Amino acid sequence: MKVKDVIKYLDSIAPPQFQEAYDNSGLIVGQSSKEVEGVLVCLDCIEEVVQEAIDLKCNLIVAHHPIIFSGLKKINGSNYIERTIIKAIKNDINIFAIHTNLDNVLNGVNGKIADKIGLVNRHVLNPKKDLLLKLAVFSPKASAEKIREVLFNSGAGQISDYSNCSFNVLGKGTFKPGENANPFVGKIGKTHHEDEVKIEVILSKHLLNSTMEQVRIHHPYEEVAYDILPLENTSNVGSGLIGELESEIDVNEFLAQLKQKMNVKVIRHTAICKNKIKKVALCGGSGSFLLSSAKNLNADIFITADFKYHEFFDAENQIIIADIGHFESEQYTIDLISDGLKENFSNFAIRLTGVNTNPINYL
Ligand SMILES: [Zn+2]
Repeated sequence: MKVKDVIKYLDSIAPPQFQEAYDNSGLIVGQSSKEVEGVLVCLDCIEEVVQEAIDLKCNLIVAHHPIIFSGLKKINGSNYIERTIIKAIKNDINIFAIHTNLDNVLNGVNGKIADKIGLVNRHVLNPKKDLLLKLAVFSPKASAEKIREVLFNSGAGQISDYSNCSFNVLGKGTFKPGENANPFVGKIGKTHHEDEVKIEVILSKHLLNSTMEQVRIHHPYEEVAYDILPLENTSNVGSGLIGELESEIDVNEFLAQLKQKMNVKVIRHTAICKNKIKKVALCGGSGSFLLSSAKNLNADIFITADFKYHEFFDAENQIIIADIGHFESEQYTIDLISDGLKENFSNFAIRLTGVNTNPINYL
């Protein structure tokens, strides 16, 4: 197994195209062609974690936060980032980051928090708009079933929990093959009429090239007719998550459970303006930018981290903001990543870091 095999799996659960523009997810240090001897999973890849990887003979570190975020102009060891990179390179350690792309998928960082808290009816809190396309492929009637299968196997036609979604219209296609054509049906220089099906599917943009490659391989026509249309539809990819508890519970009971389930020492929260909690919005890490979305969807509480003093005022007695800490909110992401890796790879060790990388201490 090579580093690229592990990357292929990680990209399948959190496509790199889903990361935010400011992010730097992906293979940060190393080479994808290297053989994997062991994987160490962490939230923050710092020097101590690289040392741990060396000691455990894990030559691939999978981290949530990218150690290089903005660019580096010099690598001479003057800060912890540069020293981490130098140590990793010197010791042939590969570093991969799976950051906002894992935040933005429903079963990612936020799905794990929702599992811990016990939320049902989950949706993305702030879905992205520009990720979907409508693809229409014109197929001779006899090949339509095959082409639909190719589209579905490529990941097209997925709407929320429904797969194999398509819309099919039977019609008449016409074409006149030119002199240099090699038509599947019809004759050179003669207009041909063929019963065709227009197969329409919804498609995530990042799957377009691989899908069209498969369609071209399996479509009987020399030239495949197709339309690609941009969509205004929202996707099920984006930041934050909103869901519900199975049944509403007393707010103080909920906060006590939250503290225990998320292993939190301190919750910084706004006024307890609700008696009961049912609808819960959450975002692992810095989520204050999602407060208005949480309020618009009438969440009783918004669980996240990194709220600033003035931002707490924006709760306006409409919602409870509960800041549980950045590290605390994301700590179970390590289990999420390592559990997935363990299910898919059995020929090398997958370890969880024993280093507490939380830079914040509580008295
Ligand atoms: Zn984070």
